[in-house]
Amino acid sequence: MFPQNRLRRMRSSEAMRSLVRETRLSPEGFIYPLFVCPGEGIRKEVGSMPGVFNLSVDEAVKEAAEAKALGIPALILFGLPDKKDEIATGAWADDGIVQVATRAIKATVPDLIVMGDVCLCEYMSHGHCGIVKKVKHGGQHSHATSATRGGAAVAPAEEYEIVNDASLEILARTAVSQAKAGIDIIAPSDMMDGRVAAIRTALDKNGFENTPIMSYAAKYASGFYGPFREAADSAPAFGDRRAYQMDPANKREAMREIKLDLLEGADMIMVKPAIAYLDIIAEARRRFDVPLAAYQVSGEYAMIKAAAKLGWIDHDRVMLESLMSIQRAGASMILTYFAKDVAKLIG
Ligand SMILES: [Zn+2]
Repeated sequence: MFPQNRLRRMRSSEAMRSLVRETRLSPEGFIYPLFVCPGEGIRKEVGSMPGVFNLSVDEAVKEAAEAKALGIPALILFGLPDKKDEIATGAWADDGIVQVATRAIKATVPDLIVMGDVCLCEYMSHGHCGIVKKVKHGGQHSHATSATRGGAAVAPAEEYEIVNDASLEILARTAVSQAKAGIDIIAPSDMMDGRVAAIRTALDKNGFENTPIMSYAAKYASGFYGPFREAADSAPAFGDRRAYQMDPANKREAMREIKLDLLEGADMIMVKPAIAYLDIIAEARRRFDVPLAAYQVSGEYAMIKAAAKLGWIDHDRVMLESLMSIQRAGASMILTYFAKDVAKLIG
């Protein structure tokens, strides 16, 4: 009660504010996403994500070493294969781009944790996260919904189904292949039902019982992923991902997703995207006693970059505030394209 209580006493100077600060950002909680592509000496900036690049393996190794030197403990790799097909060969081939990059990074920066994003969309000719099957008109299947691409009408997506169970086998094969290449943490992002169990079983059967799984447990069908699809060249050729990723309107369902992934053997969980889903992060933190990550996605990054470029916001201030809020909500690990920028600022 005033006047006994004056909260402003604890805001009187930066030293005082620093002393009573409840949330402290540190590069130790960051996971830095990298996009790896074939070739050599390639460093191609993603148009909608200034400061983010498609990197050939040699350049990815340099980037990994720099991240490690800045105190960032972990990377997550996304692959841009030279060829795509209908069975995502590039995802599970021994000489797949992620596998090759992993071996190169682990050889140069062995102490850095390398996480492998396990999904099929980057490796499928159609850009969906699972196997696609044509179905008859009017069927009650879990199909992709209709959409247009590039303004042109496309085949009605109701003719297609993203097949769940058959996709699990390819996802499991991808996880094992990544573990063989030296990936430290397997991170399935596909949102098929049962993928964590399928991956856990396959890893164990192949001698990787000590390799942990961080599941993208609550991954929403979000408009904030737009720039990523340019970076990873993974936009679906038809339909969208609403038949497998979560409806942004749902919170209770996210808790079920997380619970099921944990029952299936996930060691760590993730909420994606972050800023528009702080309530999901907070609720997950309250309910589940496991390491919790949040992914500050491409659109979140792009909006801050764009507004800062126009002079409408202060880049560093908003970057720090956004990451702080994600941590304050309850995430102890943050996947962020800002990892290096922040590490340089506060490291
Ligand atoms: Zn995917």
